[in-house]
Order: sequence, then structure tokens, then C-alpha cells
Amino acid sequence: MKYVRYQYRDIASYGVLEGGTIRDIGGGLFGNRKETGKVRDLRDVKLLCPCEPSKVLAIGLNYRSHLGDRVAPDKPAVFVVPPSALLEPEGEIRIPPDAEDTHYEGELVAVIGTTTRDATPAEAEESIFGFTCGNDISERKWQKNDLQWWRAKGCDTFAPLGPCIETAYNWRGRGIKTRLNGTVVQQGRFAELLFDPPAIVSHISRYITLQPGDVVYTGTPGNTAALRHGDTVTVEIEGIGVLTNTVRNPGRRV
Ligand code: MG
Repeated sequence: MKYVRYQYRDIASYGVLEGGTIRDIGGGLFGNRKETGKVRDLRDVKLLCPCEPSKVLAIGLNYRSHLGDRVAPDKPAVFVVPPSALLEPEGEIRIPPDAEDTHYEGELVAVIGTTTRDATPAEAEESIFGFTCGNDISERKWQKNDLQWWRAKGCDTFAPLGPCIETAYNWRGRGIKTRLNGTVVQQGRFAELLFDPPAIVSHISRYITLQPGDVVYTGTPGNTAALRHGDTVTVEIEGIGVLTNTVRNPGRRV
């Protein structure tokens, strides 16, 4: 099942996506979900981020192809991104004027479905509601030089998320492709993840209680490069969908 959050006129709501239509649901995404009987044409709505997380966590250095000469971590390399960084599908990534080297990072994102604390990997797998696409936008200079990654990864619009959550998703055997202006610039298979989603969620849950709707970006494969004003970046995940965003960099027009 594919779930979306969408805006129709001034009202935001969750729905089930099927082909070009959305069947509206009430009662929220978790718990008591019920179809209301309203059906919307996908072309008539604006898609929002597919959930409303209280926390956004992310993993670095989780593919060998992205490590370069760095040593593989012995546990998931977790960092925190403020939820204010989230950006909806088709939204504009706004690069601050003083940023110099801001990269895309296409990623598989796990969406938590139940309150999760001290979970074993098997329990963690059960706690995952579904998966969506994410782009962990990263300003490399700030990532390298700042004490924390609050702005390197946490600027407004630096966490594109969506377009939908696929709940019946077996990531094993699937893969991801990032395209910059139509050209494939990253690709990877989820079998290559150094720490898989259950291992990541289990590890995080030993220290932080995860709540329904919280999201975990699972890391990016291969190499990344700088975004420029006017670029279009897409993250396509097999069996889920395509997350498309454009780039605005008022300080550095090209
Ligand atoms: Mg990343």
C-alpha cells in the first residue's frame, strides 16, 4: 500500500495512492485509519511530506561505495536533523547565499510505525511502517568545519522526503538511483548497506525512543557533487517512487 499526505484546497490530509488517484483517509496515518470515501485526482492536489516526524535521524558512511578512504564504522554513524529541514516533493531546495559546496545524497528512508524502545533487530523490523525516498542535502564545507552538522545538513529545505510511503516494501534486492538534470549520478543496491534498516533502528532505539512517523535516512551510495541554481534532482527507489526537487541558489546564479 502506498500512503501520501496531500493538500487539497487548504486542507491537509492522508490518503492511499493508487495510480493517479488518492483515496482520502481520516484518523491519521497510524492507529485508527479509515477511508472517508473522498477520492482526489493526483493532478488536483499538492503532495506534502508523507508523514509528520517528531524526529529525523540519519546515518552516515553506510555504503562501502561512499566511504572512499575512510574506515567503515563499527556501529551506525547516527546524526540528527531538525524536522524543520523537511521539504515536500516538487519543493525548492534553497541553498543559503554563503554556502559553497552543497551536495545531493539520495537515500532510502525508513518510517517508524510504533513506539520503539530497546528493540532487537527483529522487533525493529516489525516497528518499521514503510519506506520512502529522501535526499540528505549536505553542505560539505560546513560539514567539515562546524562543530555539529546543524546547518550542514539541517538548513530549511535540506531534507526532501516523499512522495509516498510504501508499506509492503522488501528492500532486500532493491536499489536506488539519483539523477541530476536527468543524468544518473548515484546508484546503489540496498544489499550493500553496511547496517540495514532493522540494525539501524535497533541501535537508535537503545538511546532514543522512536515514535510513529519518525524517519531514519539510511545513508547514500557512491559519490556526490555540488548542486547549482536551476538544477533538478530526483531520487528514484525501485518499488516506491520518484522524489523530485529543484534547486534555488540566489547567491550563485549560473
Ligand atoms: Mg546522508
